[in-house]
Amino acid sequence: MSFETAEFEMSAALPSQLPKCFLPEIVFSGRSNVGKSSLINKLINRKSLARVSSTPGKTATINFYNIGFCRFVDLPGYGYAKVSYAEKERWSTLVEGYFGAGRDIKAVVQLTDIRRMPTEDDLKMIDYVQKSNIPCLIVATKADKLNKGQRATQFALYAEKFSESKNTKFIAASSSTGEGIENMKRIITKYCGKK
Ligand code: GDP
Repeated sequence: MSFETAEFEMSAALPSQLPKCFLPEIVFSGRSNVGKSSLINKLINRKSLARVSSTPGKTATINFYNIGFCRFVDLPGYGYAKVSYAEKERWSTLVEGYFGAGRDIKAVVQLTDIRRMPTEDDLKMIDYVQKSNIPCLIVATKADKLNKGQRATQFALYAEKFSESKNTKFIAASSSTGEGIENMKRIITKYCGKK
């Protein structure tokens, strides 16, 4: 399937602004600055359709991209310390509103930084996705930042943590080198029931 006809559709800041669901949806989740926008841009082969933010925590909307055969749903990044309590509440209401709206969610792509283990917030999201019986693809990104030995160590730790988890896959990726991108495309295509 082609990922390169992607178009930005809209942003929603409130549950009432969520667009109708008329395509299978692939959700992207991760803390601010983890590299989510860069990865989306890499998948759709655009320099800057998804915003690569220099100010972490700024993206507080859910952004929708029409990929043709599916839709990418870019959740607002979380875990930015300077965000106010009210803003965190708004994040929760928006994201819970999204997941609670009976949409055709095929998978959640949960991003982590390969140099670290998932944060508590990452694990909360992974747990929620697993309990909701939504397939979860954990993508440890910025793989180019580690040398071979460090990567093997991190890979083993991740594998140990997630290999037994039902409905959960784990891969390493890099938006800088393109590592893992073709594999992600294959997995996403399959989640959507396409070849
Ligand atoms: P977001 O806040 O999760 O959308 O993160 P961004 O995509 O804006 O990326 C945050 C920072 O990490 C930017 O400076 C990116 O250039 C950098 N970055 C993102 N992905 C990678 C990667 O795979 N490798 C490296 N070396 N840097 C990355």
